[in-house]
Amino acid sequence: MATETVTPMLRQYQKIKAQHKDCILFFRLGDFYEMFYEDAKVASSILDLVLTSRGKGTANHVPMCGIPFHAADNYIARLIKAGHKVAICEQVEDPAQAKGIVKRDVIRIISSGTFLDENTPDSRYILCLNPDIKPGHSSTFGAAFIDPASGTIQANEYKSVERILHLISHLPIYECVYPLEKEEQIKPILRHPLLSAKKITTSPHDDWCFNPSIALKTLCEHFGVRNLKGFGVDEKPFAISASGALLEYLRNMNKQPLRHIDRLSLYADDNYVFISPAAIYGLELEGLFKCLNHTSCALGKRLLRYWIYHPLKQPAAILQRQAAVTLLKENTSAQQDLMTLLGRLPDVEKNISKLSCGYIHAKDILALRQALCLLPEIKEIAGPLQKKNRLFTLEDIPVLREELSAAVNPDMPLSKSEGKVIRPGYHDELDALRDIQENGRQWLKNFQQRESKRSGINSLKVGFNKVFGYYIEITKTRLKSAPDDYIRKQTLVNAERFITSELKTYEEKILTAQEKILKIENEILKELRKNILDHSVALHNFAHTAATLDALCSLSYLARLPQYTAPEVNEEDMIDITEGRHPVVEKTLNEPFVPNDTFLDCEENHLIILTGPNMAGKSTYIRQVAILTIMAQIGSYVPAAKARIGVVDKIFTRIGAHDDITKGQSTFMVEMSETADIANNMTDRSLIILDEIGRGTSTFDGLSLAWALAEHLQSVKARTLFATHFHELTALAEKHSGVKNFNVAVKEWKDEIIFLHKIIPGSTDDSYGIYVAKLAGVPKPIIDRSKKILTKLELQSNLKERLAGQSQSIPHEVQLPLFYTQDDSTMQKVKDILTAMDLNNITPLQAFGELEKMKRIIENEH
Ligand code: ATP
Repeated sequence: MATETVTPMLRQYQKIKAQHKDCILFFRLGDFYEMFYEDAKVASSILDLVLTSRGKGTANHVPMCGIPFHAADNYIARLIKAGHKVAICEQVEDPAQAKGIVKRDVIRIISSGTFLDENTPDSRYILCLNPDIKPGHSSTFGAAFIDPASGTIQANEYKSVERILHLISHLPIYECVYPLEKEEQIKPILRHPLLSAKKITTSPHDDWCFNPSIALKTLCEHFGVRNLKGFGVDEKPFAISASGALLEYLRNMNKQPLRHIDRLSLYADDNYVFISPAAIYGLELEGLFKCLNHTSCALGKRLLRYWIYHPLKQPAAILQRQAAVTLLKENTSAQQDLMTLLGRLPDVEKNISKLSCGYIHAKDILALRQALCLLPEIKEIAGPLQKKNRLFTLEDIPVLREELSAAVNPDMPLSKSEGKVIRPGYHDELDALRDIQENGRQWLKNFQQRESKRSGINSLKVGFNKVFGYYIEITKTRLKSAPDDYIRKQTLVNAERFITSELKTYEEKILTAQEKILKIENEILKELRKNILDHSVALHNFAHTAATLDALCSLSYLARLPQYTAPEVNEEDMIDITEGRHPVVEKTLNEPFVPNDTFLDCEENHLIILTGPNMAGKSTYIRQVAILTIMAQIGSYVPAAKARIGVVDKIFTRIGAHDDITKGQSTFMVEMSETADIANNMTDRSLIILDEIGRGTSTFDGLSLAWALAEHLQSVKARTLFATHFHELTALAEKHSGVKNFNVAVKEWKDEIIFLHKIIPGSTDDSYGIYVAKLAGVPKPIIDRSKKILTKLELQSNLKERLAGQSQSIPHEVQLPLFYTQDDSTMQKVKDILTAMDLNNITPLQAFGELEKMKRIIENEH
């Protein structure tokens, strides 16, 4: 770029762009945002814009494209979703007052974690990490995160990368901020296969912001406190540093003080069930959320999703929620009225955030007015329930409500609200100006009549012309009757034109009315914005209670469904479910779902080995137990005839590999990583769901690993459901009393197999894999051939009997026979040849001959 030859405007552009290299710069020119150079090329292709250019064919050829400023939101959303950051550069002085080129500056940077997406109710979190990794010593990670649509930064410290992975898997993190100097430590974490389904924008940030004392100062100043004792993080310097840096980053992005961020709290993940990252995918929590979600507003939808990812551990808190659900279930009309009212509730959190981030959109203020006007109606319904359950407590915000009701015009046209945002009757001058604007003609007519009467000149006319403005016109013949206060303005052939001070004042008013209206309206809006932000804590409390009511209503909708029941939740060690059903699978079936019982405890029934044919329903059943446990621990009713859930502290799963999470690692490696996670982190209060272990390697490797893991599980006595095709494992039940065998019943009828989906005690070694292959359309010759091979292999194999017979000794030295598919007489012949061979006196050719002999024996016998 030859800076010397470019125009002053482009020079200004280049200077601003140099400070925002990682962003696409939206440069305001009149009614457009223009993009230049590389930004124009990138944006035009993502946004389907025509790429034009300035100075075409010259050395100063500059590619450019543009968008109308009023349509920017939609374009910004598309660039953010494509992974870009957008810097909005505005004119920051009045062009009329500007000397030379108008001053411009970046007023806001929007990134994927700071983007307030109005088109979706979903959360977008931004995370700030401050790692302190000391190889060979204990490491610490400070973590702070916020949904910018909310007002709370949550923070904590962790001692392992696994906990950070867990945190990121649980939350919809879209962006990660970290100290620039620690980039090399952060990148491998974000590239972890478990997170590959997430698109996380990386934002290295100035190291000084992470300095603990600077971060502490930033936070204390922001929250107006002397120390952070009341926030639960004061003893966690890395959490403080991450929180302070996050706040600084957000303020820098929005160029605003961000008053809506009114809370800093400890992310108390110890209060929640730890659902391992693998279990989030394995149990398909997102699908569960979609199935359970009957919320009416965006606030409730976000909270219900949070609840599902964060089940509670304390029975008292769980039962309080459950009691609230029951209360709503029993008060149908209250529940329905609440759902109707909440359905009309705007996304208050987002409205507050938008205002705080510097957008003064009339629609956000109107939305808050609407929300506050709904508040007393919601309170009227929730009030009587509040006496029975604290979760229904709702505080009114009367002062702000009255102010917004009085000030904001509920009938403003949203698409063209300028000048119509403030309600008539709120501001005298504004009313007068509007009156002038709207009733100008009438006023002039009245004025003309008045003046005509006063002067006695019937032909007196009031008119307007662009050069001279308003005037009173009197024909020359009646000039004598012109009152004394008339000031001559213009002389025509037959008439004289005058002005009076009253008409002059009116002229000024009418000509500047619109400008003044907008100015006054803007000032009132600024004042309202300030008052709203002064009430941000109360507004956030209202938003949180409304969200809670909505999530509870959603759960009570489920509670009313047939065959849903309130589970008993306690500190005991059992999971006792009668006729449980998988809520998601049940919804997808055309036929009735077959209910099943479960009994697990930490003593005599802690490890269930579940065998059975393919397609029988093993996976569905074991997941169902975990899902019902999660539902019970979020305070929900469960799809079962009866359920008793002794709370679990962690849920682990080892379930078939997912393509999206296996990038960069082999399927078996992922399987083993998940197994390692379980073995290293489970406790005797955990719930473990294993859908096959060791199938990704050779039979012996896999079986040995599965066996050893089962033994480990049995020693910890964690409640475990283990579905497997290694029916050899059922031998464990003979040795350990806490291990129980179950299988899934099937009925053979003629040449067909009927899957009954019923879990029954005992083991089975029937897989019916070939039958399932036939159902799946595998060609008949392959099916017939595999049946023959199976018969032969079954005749030759006696592995299970051997394992069962040796189960006493297997735990410590597994001695599995070599060539187990060959019978002993074949082996004996091979052994005889090998023994007879004199290796010191044999030529390579003779050795080859012996080898060939042995090969033939094995082949013939086979
Ligand atoms: P595989 O060993 O091949 O993984 P599986 O035994 O784990 O099979 P699932 O995947 O759980 O079998 O179930 C197969 C199908 O059977 C499900 O998709 C569902 O349609 C149906 N099914 C499972 N459980 C039930 C049930 N309890 N009632 C009715 N249908 C069921």
